[in-house]
Amino acid sequence: MFMNTHGIAIHGGAGTILRSLMTPEKEAQYIKGLQDAIVAGNSVLEKGGSSTDAVEIAVMSLENFPLFNAGKGAVFTNKGTHEMDASIMEGLTLEAGAVSGISNVQNPVHLARVVKEKSGHVFLSGADAELFAKQMGLPFQPDEYFYEEGRYKQWQEVKDSDGYQLDHTVNSGEGKKFGTVGAVALDKYGNLAAATSTGGMTNKRFGRIGDTPMIGAGTYANNKTCAISCTGHGEYFIRAVVAYDISCLMEYKGMSLKQACDFVVKDKLVKFGGEGGLVAIDPIGNIELPFNSEGMYRAWKKGDGKIEVKIYED
Ligand code: ASP
Repeated sequence: MFMNTHGIAIHGGAGTILRSLMTPEKEAQYIKGLQDAIVAGNSVLEKGGSSTDAVEIAVMSLENFPLFNAGKGAVFTNKGTHEMDASIMEGLTLEAGAVSGISNVQNPVHLARVVKEKSGHVFLSGADAELFAKQMGLPFQPDEYFYEEGRYKQWQEVKDSDGYQLDHTVNSGEGKKFGTVGAVALDKYGNLAAATSTGGMTNKRFGRIGDTPMIGAGTYANNKTCAISCTGHGEYFIRAVVAYDISCLMEYKGMSLKQACDFVVKDKLVKFGGEGGLVAIDPIGNIELPFNSEGMYRAWKKGDGKIEVKIYED
């Protein structure tokens, strides 16, 4: 059988991530969080596992890492709670699963996977999605598990206003950062998959949902074209249908992965006002990690190549 080269790329959010706003200790922690996740996802691929397993495992690792805005590190809503969104999609079958506005589920991306495989639906939300998770025996955690000092401070800064923040903003002294996490992968059998997970925006209200759980906006995978996981200002990514737009440009216009990614992220989204970035992989293992903000936490590994981890533009 023809073996494709496998590959994986992950992100931990994009935004105003500047060296001048970072301490060496914090930087080392972020690098470790990214490295652990890419090693976990890549080892699945190396052992001949599926891209769906690889992206799920990589995103779970990022969800368990408190500095990223997903799972354990999810930001606070206006009510002082954590409402998380996640999705997963596989490129061979176009099967997908997604959840939004869920609380206390330890790994939202795992719930998205179970939705895909066991619910007969694509997208579940809120308390009833949690009920489904309980019935499926998924692990839950108490509110304290999701408490993170830095996130609490962020929320205190905006909680009495109508404003919401995309994870860190410049005002918070740490720079504006969209801390969503995600992964895309190509396995040895030529199958693509994508997964994304987030706590959304600090101080979000009224059950606000971003692009992360929306198939076609924040997440998409199709073996004919690419797998995409986005991070950024969700309202813009939803309206620009970013992930599917890239796939369509490849499928209908014959663009390469790089051409489609550059056009959407660095031209269309910039003109539209949508700040953020994404990770992308195509069926022959090309990887792109474009962003239009100052930085994006990211890591990738192609076939037998070495693990690359980057935070800033250079
Ligand atoms: N895209 C996410 C949202 O709008 C935020 C992020 O990327 O951090 O919910």
